[in-house]
Formats: sequence, C-alpha cells, structure tokens
Amino acid sequence: MKKIIITLDGYSSCGKSTLAKQMAAHLNYVFIDSGAMYRAITLYFIRHRIDVTNSDAVIEALTHIHLVFKLNEQTGRADMYLNNENVEEEIRGLEVSNNVSQVAALEPVRIFSVAQQQLMGTQKGIVMDGRDIGTAVFPGAELKIFVTASPEVRVERRYQELVAKDPAITKAEIQANLEMRDHIDSTREFSPLKQAHDALVLDNSNLTRDEQLDLALSWAQERIANA
Ligand code: C5P
Repeated sequence: MKKIIITLDGYSSCGKSTLAKQMAAHLNYVFIDSGAMYRAITLYFIRHRIDVTNSDAVIEALTHIHLVFKLNEQTGRADMYLNNENVEEEIRGLEVSNNVSQVAALEPVRIFSVAQQQLMGTQKGIVMDGRDIGTAVFPGAELKIFVTASPEVRVERRYQELVAKDPAITKAEIQANLEMRDHIDSTREFSPLKQAHDALVLDNSNLTRDEQLDLALSWAQERIANA
C-alpha cells in the first residue's frame, strides 16, 4: 500500500492535533505537531531574552537550537525536546502561547522550521498539523484537511485542556489568546494561515471525536487507494 502525506491546517484550538494523532495511529503513520516546534523555539527565545526585532540576534539564536521529537513510552506520544531537554509541558503554558505567534511570524524562524518539517516527510506516511502545512510545507500533499470549529467550541476545548494544570486560568484569557494568535497567524507576511485551494474542509463544531475521525479516515483511505 502506497503511503501518502496528510496535512491538517486551521485556526488555534480546532482540534487538529487530536485528529492528526488519531489518524496517524489508525493508519500506522507518524504524527508531527509542527506547532510544538514553534513553541519550543519561543521558549528558547523567552529564556534567553532574544529581541525578536533584531534579526541578527534571531538568526544567531537559531544556530543554538536543536529540536527533536522523541517517543514517550508511557504516553505513547512524541514529546518535544529542546537541546536534549523534554519541554513538552512547558511549551503548552500561556507564557509560550502569548509569544509564539510573534516568533512564528519571523522569516528566519519559518525557514528553519519548514526545512526540518520537509525532511520529516521524505518517506511519506506522515500526518502533520499546523497552519501552513498544506500551503507552504507540503503543497503537493495527497490529502489536505482544513479544520474549523466555532469560536465558542474552541475556547471551551482549550479551557478544559488547560484548567486542570492551571485552575486560575479564565475563559476570557484563553479567548484573548486565541483571537490574537489567529489574527497574527492569518495576517503575517511569510506563509500566513490560509485554506489551501485543494483542501477539504472539516467543521467539527457538532461532531464527536469518533465522527470526525471516521470522516477524515474515509478521505484518507480514498486518497491512499488512488495514490
Ligand atoms: O498548533 P499550535 O497552536 O500549538 O501552534 C502554536 C503557534 O505556532 C500558532 O499559533 C502559530 O503561531 C504557530 N504555528 C505556525 N505554523 C505552523 C504551526 C504553528 O505558525 N505550521
């Protein structure tokens, strides 16, 4: 059976990673969360106080960043390692979320990340989620899915995800963060978030996880059969 590349793009907190992970598990493909790479770079920039308006400083900082995904045997998911440190927990917090879109909008950061993402796809058999995967990273992908969900559903989902770790977090804070990231992500100059012309739209506002998985897998199976 031929392997294909599957891309999932869309606004923040639409459930892309959840779906991508489930699809990869069903198809025995590798799941890659490209957002984790931008988050880890952002964490490095925060820790080292990199001035994002200084492109020389940004380029220099990138030469000190080594990113790898390593399988976590306990959870079965791939954790993000920044220079050999597992940063999976830390990159999900609000401090990184509040800065990541500014960092991800920088051209050197995109060149650095996209080159690594493209290498991960050379053998195909991957499901990668992000913002520009179907448009800039793998414009030739066999299946591109653009995931959407209503703003209320997205805030609620993110809240449920974060409140266990941070009981003080509010829905208003989360909503502000999602709106800010969506705005920066879709208006930035370099590979902005937009729906690829050949993407299939999956609105999961009223779908259960199983229903959206069934739909996405039916698309994947058809594309695999025709590959
Ligand atoms: O997917 P996630 O919400 O973890 O991504 C964090 C941020 O990384 C996004 O808000 C966006 O600014 C950036 N990103 C990006 N391109 C990608 C994936 C993520 O610009 N392919």
